Amino acid sequence: MADRYLSFTGTAPGRLLTRRLGLPQPAALQRWTPERPSLKGDRLLLTAGKSDLGLTDAGAAANPSAGVRTALGLDLTTAPSEKPAAVVLDATGVRDVETLAEVHAALHPVVRSVADSGRVVVLGAPLDPADHHQAAVQQALEGFTRSLGKEIGRGRTVNLVRLTDAHAAESTLRFLLSPRSAYVSGQVVEVGSAPADATAPHDRPHDSDRPLTGRTALVTGAARGIGEAVAETLARDGARVVVLDVPQAEQDARRVADRLGGTALALDITAPDAGTRIAAALPDGLDVLVHNAGITRDRRLVNMPAERWSSVLDVNLASVLRTTDALLESGTLRRGGRVVATASIAGLAGNAGQTNYGASKAGIVGLVRALAPRALAEHGVTVNAVAPGFVETKMTAAIPLFNREAGRRMNSLAQGGLPIDVAETTAWLADPGSSGVNGQVVRVCGQSLLGA
Ligand code: NAD
Repeated sequence: MADRYLSFTGTAPGRLLTRRLGLPQPAALQRWTPERPSLKGDRLLLTAGKSDLGLTDAGAAANPSAGVRTALGLDLTTAPSEKPAAVVLDATGVRDVETLAEVHAALHPVVRSVADSGRVVVLGAPLDPADHHQAAVQQALEGFTRSLGKEIGRGRTVNLVRLTDAHAAESTLRFLLSPRSAYVSGQVVEVGSAPADATAPHDRPHDSDRPLTGRTALVTGAARGIGEAVAETLARDGARVVVLDVPQAEQDARRVADRLGGTALALDITAPDAGTRIAAALPDGLDVLVHNAGITRDRRLVNMPAERWSSVLDVNLASVLRTTDALLESGTLRRGGRVVATASIAGLAGNAGQTNYGASKAGIVGLVRALAPRALAEHGVTVNAVAPGFVETKMTAAIPLFNREAGRRMNSLAQGGLPIDVAETTAWLADPGSSGVNGQVVRVCGQSLLGA
């Protein structure tokens, strides 16, 4: 179902009318295309407090107009720019309220000039439990980031990355500063240091255009919707994809697999032996496991028969637990592997009529947080989740008009996301360079008001 309001506000009379009436003004977001793979304009590096990251060297300070290749692995500039595409503010050195004022001082003069669909990324430090002043102001950055995300407008996004090691954050910064993260805003992502043994033995030199070259990815529920977009995006990034869906959807799964040069696997993920059957289909192992299959069976709890409860819990949560366990234990998921599960903002905020769905998606969050450190330590595999907000799919096209419009507009970008937005986020988490990103739940919701 096309977003006609977004098309209307993109026209001159539409813009005029909706502005007069005080209605939402969604901006057409710039997404990744092969022709426009990056945002046009400078990436400006600012600093608040005395940073330990050492992003720029002394030479850069002496000649700020030269772009600098920073420890983040990215080209940034410290010279003032008329219309920066992105601003990176290193606030890792902010340790007290006085230096927090430098966050205001750094961004206040430039925020207006950030280009449409531009990016603001604040770099923060992990909260120090031994220093409550540092913890207070580093937590303050979260409220700052989320508030700026809500007011900045014009398709621009604001995110916070808490990091200790600049090198480990390269893939995350690359994603957040690119058009690939168009619908990710108001998020806080923690990046740890990349453990040396989280790298697969068959790793090739990192190719940032096709980082998944030589890797195998399996996406559940990939015959349509978000799963299809995920399979497409992982294939674009070089992966050999396995398109898994229920036997009833086998024809569609084959069509997707054929188009992507992958294979289809007709399998109901709730089958008790699903893990064994996936392992048998992948004798050479698996690098990326995306749990995307999901169903809704909405009813208020008073009217919900047990079958509606159990079918949703079985597809959305129990099968994810079972297959992840089986594929880790059998060693099918190789060292350097990635698990990306699908939560939902309904699992974070709750939703009337969705006690079953909300429970299943919150369960994914618990699974990710508990399993991530152990899976990394024991198997060299990271475990993260995406939590989509309102995404334009067949699932959301079936929502009654009023609720659908509310779902679309109640976020900082005043529009729904597209399947590609969830797919791009999944691809970043699946990137071999993302081994420092573990146990994270990243919302792809345009900074939805729900559960914010
Ligand atoms: P969709 O209904 O369009 O596609 C889901 C796919 O999963 C279908 O192809 C279906 O056949 C498959 N599937 C269902 N049960 C399965 C099973 N037992 N075994 C194997 N495959 C099975 O849904 P979508 O909108 O693309 O959603 C994808 C995921 O994103 C789901 O987990 C959903 O809960 C989540 N999500 C979607 C939205 C949204 O706005 N669309 C929001 C939040 C979360």
